[in-house]
Amino acid sequence: MKQRRFSAEQILLEFNSRSKLSELISRFVNLKPRGKQFVGKCPFHNEKTPSFNVNDEKGLFYCFGCKVGGNVISFLQKYNNFSFLESIKYLSDFLGVDFHNDKQFVDDKYRKKLEILSEANELFKHSLTKNTFAQKYLFERGILPGSVNVFQIGYCPDDQTLINYFKKKKNISVEELIEADLLIKNKNDNFFGRFRDRITFPIFNYQDKIVGFGGRTINNSKIKYINSQESEIFKKSEILFGLTQNINQIRESKEIILVEGYLDVISLHQRNIKCCLSPMGTTLSVNQLTKLWNLCDIPFICFDGDNAGRSASKNISEKILEFLEPGKSFKFINLPDLEDPDSFFKKNKISDFDNLKKDSVDLSDLIWEIIIGSFNEFTPELLAKVDETIKLYSNKIKNKAVSSEYFKYLKDKKNKFLWEMNVIKQKEPLLNFSKKVEENINEKLVIVYAIFEIDIFISMIEEVSKLNFSSSNLDKIRNDTIEVVTNDSSSVDHKKKYLKNKYSQIFNSLNRLYETHLKNLENIEKINFFKQIINNLKLPDLSNEKEILKKKILECTNTTEQNKLINQYDKLISEIKLIKKKNLE
Ligand SMILES: [Zn+2]
Repeated sequence: MKQRRFSAEQILLEFNSRSKLSELISRFVNLKPRGKQFVGKCPFHNEKTPSFNVNDEKGLFYCFGCKVGGNVISFLQKYNNFSFLESIKYLSDFLGVDFHNDKQFVDDKYRKKLEILSEANELFKHSLTKNTFAQKYLFERGILPGSVNVFQIGYCPDDQTLINYFKKKKNISVEELIEADLLIKNKNDNFFGRFRDRITFPIFNYQDKIVGFGGRTINNSKIKYINSQESEIFKKSEILFGLTQNINQIRESKEIILVEGYLDVISLHQRNIKCCLSPMGTTLSVNQLTKLWNLCDIPFICFDGDNAGRSASKNISEKILEFLEPGKSFKFINLPDLEDPDSFFKKNKISDFDNLKKDSVDLSDLIWEIIIGSFNEFTPELLAKVDETIKLYSNKIKNKAVSSEYFKYLKDKKNKFLWEMNVIKQKEPLLNFSKKVEENINEKLVIVYAIFEIDIFISMIEEVSKLNFSSSNLDKIRNDTIEVVTNDSSSVDHKKKYLKNKYSQIFNSLNRLYETHLKNLENIEKINFFKQIINNLKLPDLSNEKEILKKKILECTNTTEQNKLINQYDKLISEIKLIKKKNLE
């Protein structure tokens, strides 16, 4: 590997373009914002009132008490007693950058492009105020004027306006605009505006400098969204959209919710959830990961509730493992099927979102779900494979302490899982659904509902819990499923998966029953069918009750009392008749 050596100046430039001094120092010193600066109690001398200042713009700190000051490297050297090289190593970890191999370093050309983009943003903001069609579009999309301000949303005018503006204002040429990715040159040497006639969303780097734009069409262009192209200044893997706007809230609440796109960030910001960031997609780079953990120990990930979003969460969770450190992790918020944050809030309240947050899944549990979800059967051979997989996942974690905790945790999960499975197996040796399907069919169907139609099951949970089951095996499972679904500490989605795992031994038989009896029914038919099943199960009890009543009536000596009982008896008879009649239908 070719070694490159960088001067302290280059590394400082790089640090200041990717991070803020206050962010690094706040790992060691409790800093509070004061104007554009940060102040705290000096770590280099004893003091009661804070006189230690951090200036992010200059990348310098200074203490008015003991007169110690310097840049990020001198801070690390002084505070941690690091050598120069140790400080560089620390910085490369902090930034998630390899200083020996990273090719792109800040230079004049880089600065010039930043300047052009910042100027373009001014033009876009101004153009929006002149374009009622674009304003109307934003209004119809539910983007409020406040957000237009905070997120500096604009509108990109036609090419000539753009070119003239730059020519007149800064004497910037077409070539330079192409260089800055505002104009694109095609094969025939013609050029056109990348964001022409689009709503523009400026994208800021960690240093609050505009490094690119997102553009949303307002005139039915086939390409709805476009972003600036990857370049030495626009690196998607080093951007967290929303950081510039939400950083203060994030610092204060120490909470981050990672969402997929920039419109999610804006939409949640409008609902006063000002701690959302977007990695501009569903992948997470080491750089973004480091940044997130610098700001918050356990960020939430809240991707869309579709297959893409869910599998992205899984991919991220596997990737994060490698970098886990003590105290650092992630939690995963499960949005209901097919909802994204925006659509969720259109139908729900903030408190519903808080509940989702409470139900969020720990990284370790998600990893367990990934592991166990890849097995359908649990023969001894496959159980050994589960062990291997657990080892594989724990070994991904570089940090030894976390790795060994994960190993223990996942093993524990497996043992618990097996124990529960064995309880079912031992106590229910006759539990073979494939044979004698007709036996206890109603009771079995109740279990089928618990596993496959959990919402309907929950909606009649009281009725279900009152039933008497004739099979003690099935009765145990019924009670167990009730306990699981009424447990408030996990999401419905989680419960489904849990039950599916737990009853994996009989899952195939349950699934067959589901396919033959339920699969093709409309939802309302499923509900009615479930009611019927419950009624059928009530029949033996009702007949029993009927006999008891009969006896009471015969023994009764008080006429009023007797009439009351007869009344009850009649009601019972008609109820039984009704259930029987429905069964014939
Ligand atoms: Zn001091």
